[in-house]
Amino acid sequence: MTTQTTTTPHTVDASTDISSQAEQLCQLSHRIYANDWSPATSSNYSLRLGPQHCLITTSGRDKGQLTAAQLMQVDLHNRPLTPGKPSAETALHTQLYRDFAEVGAVLHTHSFYAVLLSRLWPSDELILQGWELQKALAGESTHEDQVTIPLFANSQDIDTLAQQVSERLQQRRYAPCYLIRGHGVYTWGRDADECFRHLEALEHLFRYELERLRIERGSPL
Ligand SMILES: [Zn+2]
Repeated sequence: MTTQTTTTPHTVDASTDISSQAEQLCQLSHRIYANDWSPATSSNYSLRLGPQHCLITTSGRDKGQLTAAQLMQVDLHNRPLTPGKPSAETALHTQLYRDFAEVGAVLHTHSFYAVLLSRLWPSDELILQGWELQKALAGESTHEDQVTIPLFANSQDIDTLAQQVSERLQQRRYAPCYLIRGHGVYTWGRDADECFRHLEALEHLFRYELERLRIERGSPL
């Protein structure tokens, strides 16, 4: 999936069973936590429920024990549709659903290699090339292509950060992800499975890059 070309809008049938979506998100959360990508109640996850609303994790939840009762619905302007305190970073999810009709799932984690690489990478674009696992990212078909991932400075002003992300992602074709320095990674996909595949591939790709940097600089492994 490219983020700059609008493909078939993601649609959810009116009969979509919210409880099955909630169950899917909880299972995904437990899997992510088991991989140690969402420590200490960090991270947030969401699934699109329709053209104008999504299901998202509420604030401060242990992602290893997430339950359906700890999810809530918000519209794409961050207004609660069901009881609960939305995650502080809800605007970074809804921005993606508003800007890209094909996005059906968004995952954000504070995974180790994403956070570490985001602190060390010197420029505001991370370019991956030569890794077979790049092909796990939607729209990529060969290790020979360059995959470009934007980096943003961390901020507690989430609305401003969401605006920066929105403007940047319109500028050129980027991979379906971005890094926030010292904070974590955001990735998205047409559905939960594609999004999880991106998350898993990215954590490996970030590790490859860190190890490559360390080896090329002659530091001991
Ligand atoms: Zn975060």
